[in-house]
Amino acid sequence: MICNKDKCTGCYACYNACPKECIMMQEDDNGHIYPKVRKENCINCRLCYSVCQSLSNVKFNEPKKAYACWALNNLERETSTSGGAASVFSRNVLKKNNGIVFGAAVINKDVQHIRVEDQGDLVKLKGSKYVQSKIGNTYKQAKMDLDNNKEVLFIGTPCQIAGLKKYLKKVYSNLLTIDIICHGVPSYKMLSDYIKSNGDVNFDNIIFRDKDGFNFKLLDNNKVVFSETMKESLYYRGFMEALFYRENCYECKYATRKRVSDITIGDFWGIGEENEFLKSTKGGVSVLLPCTEKGLDFIYKCQDDMFLEERSIDEAIKGNDQLRHSSIKNKNYNKFKELYNIGGFNYAALKCMRKEIFLGKLKEILYKNEFTHNLARGIKKIVIKNN
Ligand SMILES: Cc1cc2nc3c(=O)[nH]c(=O)nc-3n(C[C@H](O)[C@H](O)[C@H](O)COP(=O)(O)OP(=O)(O)OC[C@H]3O[C@@H](n4cnc5c(N)ncnc54)[C@H](O)[C@@H]3O)c2cc1C
Ligand code: SF4
Ligand code: SF4
Ligand code: SF4
Repeated sequence: MICNKDKCTGCYACYNACPKECIMMQEDDNGHIYPKVRKENCINCRLCYSVCQSLSNVKFNEPKKAYACWALNNLERETSTSGGAASVFSRNVLKKNNGIVFGAAVINKDVQHIRVEDQGDLVKLKGSKYVQSKIGNTYKQAKMDLDNNKEVLFIGTPCQIAGLKKYLKKVYSNLLTIDIICHGVPSYKMLSDYIKSNGDVNFDNIIFRDKDGFNFKLLDNNKVVFSETMKESLYYRGFMEALFYRENCYECKYATRKRVSDITIGDFWGIGEENEFLKSTKGGVSVLLPCTEKGLDFIYKCQDDMFLEERSIDEAIKGNDQLRHSSIKNKNYNKFKELYNIGGFNYAALKCMRKEIFLGKLKEILYKNEFTHNLARGIKKIVIKNN
């Protein structure tokens, strides 16, 4: 290993940097990806160590401002995970004839980062894929574009942006980086095993959030081929319960108010709870945290395409746990790992979330009938009052 396994984020910086191409990215038993050096080709240049963001200090910046935002184009907003900020920014970069965007897409039943230069391909980047996206050689591709004076936008998790910056080694004025607020990533193997257990359908897109809320859908040629709510989905539930992220995600150095990118985007959870927000939040509200002058300027350049309202930075931080601390490891994390290897994904997830599933089912039954619904709400109120 280059850094310790429990610190490795799977950012691919070492893989991109190795001049002898002797680093392979390999899955462990749970499907999480780690580098493995083919010693016979290694020349001991230590470049892989020097680009590892887990082994070295990373430059963080305080947010300069906080905005609530959404795309003014309704379709753009409705088809995005929160307010559609990522799409607005990507479209604006591609408007320039030398613009290139990098982001996560579903490719051949896998989630990978890709390079996009046509507006028509931007749809592939839309939506959060709640799983780790494989960077592949996109850092190398981005460097080539930057050296060729293209305007590059790279969107990813904070550890992926930190990995890109370490790999690049120098500051490029033609690079804009956006990180998404991130509470952790499961491996693609877990998602794939879960999908296979549900009939192994063909799909070319994955959706975790739609205009009706937290729903997991697989699409093929724009047709829904599999659909379930978050509560019905063992994978989605486990994701929300922090049951099976990469080990390092539970001690993520990027889960803080200081950020590594020009702009941080996420959901504006808790907006209006303390300071009134006069607009309807139906349709998703993104939070924007510009952390550099470049990020702030870029937001201003895109303002004709977005509803934008300045809010307090503290409101944004307060609403989003991942801007304050890492996700807390589910108490069944180790049990899940063990059982996954013995009986597969569904077996392990069912065993580790028995209580949550039982309580969810009970709630569903109670809330179906008006009398039991009111009774359940009454009991809940009494319990809350007495606590
Ligand atoms: C694993 C994960 C965990 C997240 N956790 C939180 C959270 O705790 N709190 C919060 O406020 N927001 C979280 N988000 C971000 C949130 O869900 C939205 O992605 C974000 O608000 C952007 O939404 P949007 O409407 O602007 O754009 P969207 O159209 O939803 O675009 C999403 C952008 O994110 C990129 N992207 C999608 N999936 C991935 C991936 N797996 N890895 C890297 N990049 C990806 C795409 O390239 C695209 O540019 C998370 C996202 C992911 C992928
Ligand atoms: S030391 Fe150099 S050659 Fe060896 S794996 Fe690292 S980058 Fe590659
Ligand atoms: S550079 Fe990234 S993938 Fe490589 S060892 Fe470090 S954290 Fe892991
Ligand atoms: S939680 Fe942290 S380490 Fe894990 S994927 Fe997100 S940014 Fe990377």
